[in-house]
Amino acid sequence: MKYVVVSGGVLSGLGKGVTASSIGVLLKSAGLRVTSLKIDPYLNSDAGTMSPFEHGEVFVLDDGGEVDLDLGNYERFLDINLGRDNNLTTGKIYAKVIEAERRGDYLGKTVQVIPHVTDAVQDWLEEVAHIPADGGDLPPDACIIELGGTVGDIESAPYIEALRQFQFRVGRENVTFVHVSLVPVMGPVGEQKTKPTQHTVKELRGLGITPDILVCRSSAPLTKETREKLAAFCHVSPQAVMSTHDVPNIYHVPLMLQEQGLCEIMNVDCESTGLLHDWKTMAYHLDTLTEKVEIAMVGKYTDLSDAYLSVIKSLQHAAMAVDHKLVINWIEASHLESDWSDASEREHAWALLKQSSGVLVPGGFGDRGVEGKILAAEYARTSSTPYLGICLGLQVAAIEFCRNVLGFEGSNSTEFDENCKNPAVVFMPEISTTHLGGTMRLGSRPTLWQVEECTIRRLYGDGDSVDERHRHRYEVNPDMIEAFESAGLVFVGKDETGQRCEIFELEGHPYYVGVQYHPEFKSRPGRPSPPFLGLLMASTGQL
Ligand code: GLN
Repeated sequence: MKYVVVSGGVLSGLGKGVTASSIGVLLKSAGLRVTSLKIDPYLNSDAGTMSPFEHGEVFVLDDGGEVDLDLGNYERFLDINLGRDNNLTTGKIYAKVIEAERRGDYLGKTVQVIPHVTDAVQDWLEEVAHIPADGGDLPPDACIIELGGTVGDIESAPYIEALRQFQFRVGRENVTFVHVSLVPVMGPVGEQKTKPTQHTVKELRGLGITPDILVCRSSAPLTKETREKLAAFCHVSPQAVMSTHDVPNIYHVPLMLQEQGLCEIMNVDCESTGLLHDWKTMAYHLDTLTEKVEIAMVGKYTDLSDAYLSVIKSLQHAAMAVDHKLVINWIEASHLESDWSDASEREHAWALLKQSSGVLVPGGFGDRGVEGKILAAEYARTSSTPYLGICLGLQVAAIEFCRNVLGFEGSNSTEFDENCKNPAVVFMPEISTTHLGGTMRLGSRPTLWQVEECTIRRLYGDGDSVDERHRHRYEVNPDMIEAFESAGLVFVGKDETGQRCEIFELEGHPYYVGVQYHPEFKSRPGRPSPPFLGLLMASTGQL
């Protein structure tokens, strides 16, 4: 087993996750089975209770793990399926150590960060690295370990120490340390500054880890002088100083690293499979797309697009498949509401919605903007504009239909109006009302087709069922399904009990689809998720 440990310095947001995933792509191109593990040094057990506004989206895995969005990058780049243990958090490791202490496993010893927590971290890394992630039975050959946060943070100190020791546990020759840093440009002549990188490497080396490879985020490729200076001051060879400069799309990142000789340094032959060639084709294909397709994204948090990262990626995968350049029109849902106080914001939101060829309402929690989302669903339904509703997006469409087609005025979800009459969406009976963390209906569940023939089934292709990932507490009111269906909103996919609505499709509409699950978590470049593909095909007149 080869380990690639990716740490970061200077500041966050350097694209450490993309760098780490790209290194994984290169290893995979060399024919290795690759897995990955992300360490998040926060005390939360998992990302499930964290606001997407602060941390970006909560990514959901097959096993129901609610994890950091970087695991989404790994799944998409490496085309693997990870489990909840592939995201190690301080909350998880401390819980494990404390549980062992209560059992008496430490035989009277004082339990300490070193060695008990650091040992537990190393055991975890080694164990999880060996779990197959590509759907086969064989253990991976390589594991990318990404350390979240920035070197020097108090939170990450135990992990740095664990990783320092880890090189002796598994053999120095089996670990490659990659440090991701920033090279800013200053002054009128655009001088590339190496000092921040010098400092962060010094700090890392002070903690006992000497990086083998430096990856520097910069706006332009590093000059020869910058590389040489960094090599001299940071104790790495000049060949091992790479830059990840600005490129038109992220699929160029593995190619850029390969061109700079990363494969030679890691001693692998990235050309030994056809994978990198396909990757190249994809990166350049994306650059050549010129014809635009505008999709309205009606949500919250619209100033922080990381909150919808996988949805954006899925739209891009689908847009690529229909040969169009994706333009997302971000619409803050509450701006659509009739009582929104700023008239120009309201006008602007409606103009954006109306100029879009398709409408997407993504998942969400809490009542802010819900009425705006309902208006967007109504607009799409009545104007024959293609619509995809995901989770909450399905629920708002059901509320809209209930109010405006079935005539149940004041219908709502009990999430937003607990005592409303004729609720279109209700709380699921099996869900905990006392705890928030990890208590939703989570992870991969089957949806069984209820009809022989419909658009969304055609898009999914063969099979009697589809497995997609869930994350919700509410569902379409089972008592109303008959009324919905008799008015044309057909629940073409249901769960294994035949009771719970999973997919609806509106009869007589070009594309009006709602899914209770989150298809965005399983979309891959080159293999777009069917509901997204349907939206993009319908929006570009190809369905
Ligand atoms: N808030 C809704 C529910 O819990 C929708 C959740 C979601 O969109 N992920 O059912």
